[in-house]
Amino acid sequence: MSQSFDVIVIGEGIAGLSAAGALAKAGLSVATFEQQLFGGLVINVNELDPAPPGGEAGGAAFAAEMTGVNAEAGVTSIQEAVTAMTAGSISTAAGEYRARHIIIASGAQLKKLGVPGEAEFEGRGVSTCADCDGPMFQNETVVVVGGGDSALQEAHVLTQYCGKVILVHRGPAFRAQAHFVDAVTQNDKIEIRFNTTVDAILGGQMVEKVRLTSAAGSDELPCAGVFAYIGLTPNTDFVPDTISRDDTGRIITGETLETALPGVWAIGAVRSGCGGSLQHAMDEASAVAAAIAQRR
Ligand code: NAP
Repeated sequence: MSQSFDVIVIGEGIAGLSAAGALAKAGLSVATFEQQLFGGLVINVNELDPAPPGGEAGGAAFAAEMTGVNAEAGVTSIQEAVTAMTAGSISTAAGEYRARHIIIASGAQLKKLGVPGEAEFEGRGVSTCADCDGPMFQNETVVVVGGGDSALQEAHVLTQYCGKVILVHRGPAFRAQAHFVDAVTQNDKIEIRFNTTVDAILGGQMVEKVRLTSAAGSDELPCAGVFAYIGLTPNTDFVPDTISRDDTGRIITGETLETALPGVWAIGAVRSGCGGSLQHAMDEASAVAAAIAQRR
């Protein structure tokens, strides 16, 4: 027998948690589904910049607080991976669940560089969590790859621990918010290499160096760690083809955030056109919760 709710929210990142909480407070029965730890990508960010109200203590604390509030409001949190969905139902390995509305808030994951050594040295110098793993690189040299907000923000975080951060970007200029650009260009511990790619991560037991290529040729740079922040891939494995995606794989919605399937909505990093900041994701959550509450 399948369980039924008014609304199912796929993903317990900040967007999904926000929408679920608002809908439960409006009196609807809501279930959230999450295959990993609640909080999404922000649980790895100690200093949210800018911090939304309540987020001053960092991403993990913010998500934990929201989860607690949601539980009190009556949200059912189900720790199962969604494997398939249609308008009106989702499937997990444990069975089928039904709802009049489904909100896809499954977020995104960090893209991989896809170079030799990246998988081999994961956890042995290759990391994607500056706040968690930075302290392991006290006074060492690390390489950060990317030229967007994430790479610049995390390069700055790493200077709290590391002796030197080499910020390697494939392009000629950063594509990031001005205050992040200012922070890295004014930080003496950060050395910037534009028009340069990381082609391989090399070492023995642990990372020992990377191979860099630029117009001047290839050389090897000694380093103890490599952090790649080169963009996000949306989590849409379970989404049917009847829901359109853009050329980056993100879900296309109308202005109301409803997809082409009536009663199926998308918000946050999984949605094409979402602004990218935490506040954008939370604003979309509020908008979709208001639209669904109106239609109940
Ligand atoms: P992003 O904005 O997509 O930037 C990705 C960067 O990685 C770009 O500089 C890109 O280079 C580079 N890149 C992509 N593929 C690469 C490859 N294969 N090899 C080397 N470099 C590659 O990704 P993001 O920085 O993770 O940010 C994702 C979203 O989150 C954005 O909307 C961002 O604004 C938001 N964000 C916001 C905050 C904040 O407000 N505090 C913090 C972090 C992220 P090109 O420039 O050449 O394409």
